[in-house]
Order: sequence, then C-alpha cells, then structure tokens
Amino acid sequence: MKKKNKATLSMTFWFTMILFIEYLLAVGFSTISVAMLNKFSQGWVSVPSELMVFFFSLVLGIAFSFIANRLFLNPIRKLNKNMALVAKGDFSVRMTEKSRFKEMDLMLDNFNLMVKELGALEILQADFMANVSHEFKTPINAIEGYSMLLQGSNSKEEQDEYIKKILFSTKRLSNLVGNILLLSKLDNQVIQLKYTNFKLDEQIRQAILLSEIQWTNKEIELDVDMQEIDFFGTEEFMFHVWSNLLGNAIKFSPVGGKIIIKLSADDSLVKFEITDSGTGVSDSIKRRIFDKFYQGDNARKEEGSGLGLALAKRIVDLNKGKIYVHNVKDMGARFTVELPRSVINHEKR
Ligand code: ADP
Repeated sequence: MKKKNKATLSMTFWFTMILFIEYLLAVGFSTISVAMLNKFSQGWVSVPSELMVFFFSLVLGIAFSFIANRLFLNPIRKLNKNMALVAKGDFSVRMTEKSRFKEMDLMLDNFNLMVKELGALEILQADFMANVSHEFKTPINAIEGYSMLLQGSNSKEEQDEYIKKILFSTKRLSNLVGNILLLSKLDNQVIQLKYTNFKLDEQIRQAILLSEIQWTNKEIELDVDMQEIDFFGTEEFMFHVWSNLLGNAIKFSPVGGKIIIKLSADDSLVKFEITDSGTGVSDSIKRRIFDKFYQGDNARKEEGSGLGLALAKRIVDLNKGKIYVHNVKDMGARFTVELPRSVINHEKR
C-alpha cells in the first residue's frame, strides 16, 4: 500500500477510535451517574439519561480536544511561526518538538533538513560573492594604479611597461568574467548541451598549438603520445578542459622543464594524462583543488583565479567522466581524465 494511503488510514482509524471511546465513556458515565442519582435521592431527582449523555459528551469532547490541541496543533503552530522566520531569512531556527504521530514527526524532521540546506546554500552564495568581488578587485586596482602612473610618466620605456601591465590585468579580468559566466551557465544548465562526434586527439593537438608561445617561451620540452580517437561529447566545452590542464602544466613547470601528454582508449574508456615537471600537489591542495576559487599555496596568485579546474571538473562531470590528480616521482603533478565512451554514446544517441 502507498505511504500516503497508509497515513490517511491510520489517521482515520485513530479519529474513529477516539470518537468511539468518547461515546462509550459518555454512555458509561451517564448510566453510572443516573443510577447513583436515583439511588442516593431515592427517586426524588430524576435526570433524563439523554441529558446525561449529552453532558458527558460535552465534557469529554472538551477534554479530548484539549489533549489533541497539545499533541497535534502545538507543533503545527510552532512550525508556522518558524516558517515565517525562515521566510524572513533566519535559517538558524529548528523544530525541537517531537510528535506522537509518525507523519508529523517526519514533517518536522524534513523542515529541519530544508532549513539546514537553505542555510548552507546561503553561505555558499555569500562565499561565492565574496570571492568574485575579491578576484575583481585585484586587477581593477592594478589597472587604476598603472593608468595613474601612465598619466604622470614621460619616459617611453616606463609607458610601455605600464601599458603591458594594464593589458595583463585586462586579460585577466576578461578571462575571469568568461570563466564565471561559463561556470554559472554550466551550473544552472542554461545552455543546451550539444553532444557531437569529433576527433579528440585533434582537439588536444589544437590546444597544444594554441599555447605554443607559452611553452616555447619557457623552453619546455613536450612529449606527446596520442592515439587517434573518435569521441562523442560536448566538443566546445571539452576544449576548455585540455587548455586549462595544459596551461597549468606550463605554468607550474620550471623553465627548461618537461610535459608528457598521453591519450589512449579501449572500447569503454578514454584516458588522458598530462604530467608536468612542476611543484606537484600537497595533500591539502589535493583535497580542494577542484573547488571554485581555490588557489593553493604554490600558486602565483596574480596569474590565476582558481576557477580553471572547477570548470574542467564540471565539464568532465557533464561528460560522465572522472578527473583526478596525483604526484609522479621525479616529475610534478599528473592530471588524469577518464571519459566513458559507450555510456554517453548509448545515452545520447
Ligand atoms: P588557477 O587559475 O589559479 O591556476 P586552477 O583551478 O587551474 O586555478 O588551479 C587551482 C590550484 O590548483 C592552483 O592555484 C594550484 O595551487 C593547483 N594546481 C593546479 N594545477 C597544478 C599543477 N599542474 N601543479 C601544481 N599545482 C597545480
């Protein structure tokens, strides 16, 4: 039997039982009272038994509704009051009352759970806003400062230097806005995700080529070994994953370092690995590395915003894959992305 029907049946049963017991008690009390009245007054006083039944029904009715009021209505009244507080934004309220009715108890527990979740969501949003504001403030302050220096400077060399710094902060700002927008779109599923067939190895090669200036400037040696792979997934978004992982590998590798990229697949799984020769990741970084706005103590804060890996994880999740990191002896960090082929193929086709 369905839970709802069971609850209704149990309520009906209890109300019927209460009414029945009240009726039995009223009849019982009135019979005894009439008998006692007759006995003690020796027939002088006679009260109709219907009047007695009516009187005892009234008294018992009042007593029962008083008990029901305490058992049933009090928690509802408290719940009502607490709901009004939650509507005003107070998420600290909790229902401590317990009810004898299972359904009522369940409702109170669910109310507590709901308020707890709402509270956590509010903290999350407040944290997000604080992080966004902080990340915006740094480049904007830099742009303002260098623009003022630019105004007062006559030397061409100095001016070039300030313009370079302003452009750097502007690019950082535009990356930040782009990442926040993309993350919010992916989180809220505003965009219709387009799954298509594309060559994964070619897409990764394209990401490598696009970052050529960065890795050649740092004289980094690239060791690339990629199998040809036809993949079905969100092509446009997957590109962000590769360019972010590659960007980080370059950023964290020293000048003259090495990056190893490997792409392989079997019938069910595609595996991408990128290993750099950088600082690696400590356990404390590992725990939070995919959180929004997280930057580890090994990060040069002026060069990132801590959104890249959160974005990469969200995209890999949407493709029903896994992303994780560990350290490799004599190298640095290794990021691995595993993407199921058949799951997505079967689901989306
Ligand atoms: P950011 O834009 O700051 O690089 P990410 O989300 O890409 O943001 O990375 C978050 C943090 O993870 C970085 O601040 C850094 O501490 C750590 N991290 C990411 N990639 C690497 C890597 N290849 N080697 C070592 N640490 C890394």
